[in-house]
Amino acid sequence: MMTSIVLATGNHGKLAEMQAMLGPLGLDVVPQSDFDFEQPPETGSSFVENALIKARSASAASGLPAIADDSGLAVDALGGAPGVHSARYAGRHGDDAANNAKLLAALDGEANRGAQFICLCVMLRHPDDPIPLIAQGIWRGQILVAPRGDGGFGYDPLFLPDGCAVSSAELEPADKNRMSHRGQAVAMLVERLRAHA
Ligand code: IMP
Repeated sequence: MMTSIVLATGNHGKLAEMQAMLGPLGLDVVPQSDFDFEQPPETGSSFVENALIKARSASAASGLPAIADDSGLAVDALGGAPGVHSARYAGRHGDDAANNAKLLAALDGEANRGAQFICLCVMLRHPDDPIPLIAQGIWRGQILVAPRGDGGFGYDPLFLPDGCAVSSAELEPADKNRMSHRGQAVAMLVERLRAHA
């Protein structure tokens, strides 16, 4: 029998990926857009707190178990910024061009260009679940001095993954998903779900 689980994201790409990975475990992944509720403010100061906030509200609104992820870029020379503020680094949520321009300006003349993408993925069986399943992925690389490529989203044109000759905006989507912070976190969550199935 299929068990339904709600995915706390508005991103169709993430939904398709999760359906492909969780379907074989007998989980029917449904989008949170199937339920009418207001998105909670992401007030946490860490990725895991924000992922839990998103999962808790999706679970409460749907009456189903919920999965959520939260991710961002942490730059070594900026003390981990933009971090949980990655989507709105330059002020407006999701303004990738402005965010990238601000990052380049912040690192102007900086020799230490090390950075990492981080993704936290959580699963709650119900809104008050005291033992959420938590998985994390980290993808290390360097911040380029100018954008390269037009694939992906967010900071991808400025991110040269360790061991790669191209930016993450130049990678094939399947290759990016296999290596990325999000791919790693989702794979770890699937492993944990299997162990608890
Ligand atoms: P969210 O967790 O999907 O809300 O992502 C937060 C923000 O982090 C995005 O708006 C991007 O700016 C940045 N980000 C997260 N993952 C990636 C990625 O894979 N590539 C580029 N930017 C990313």
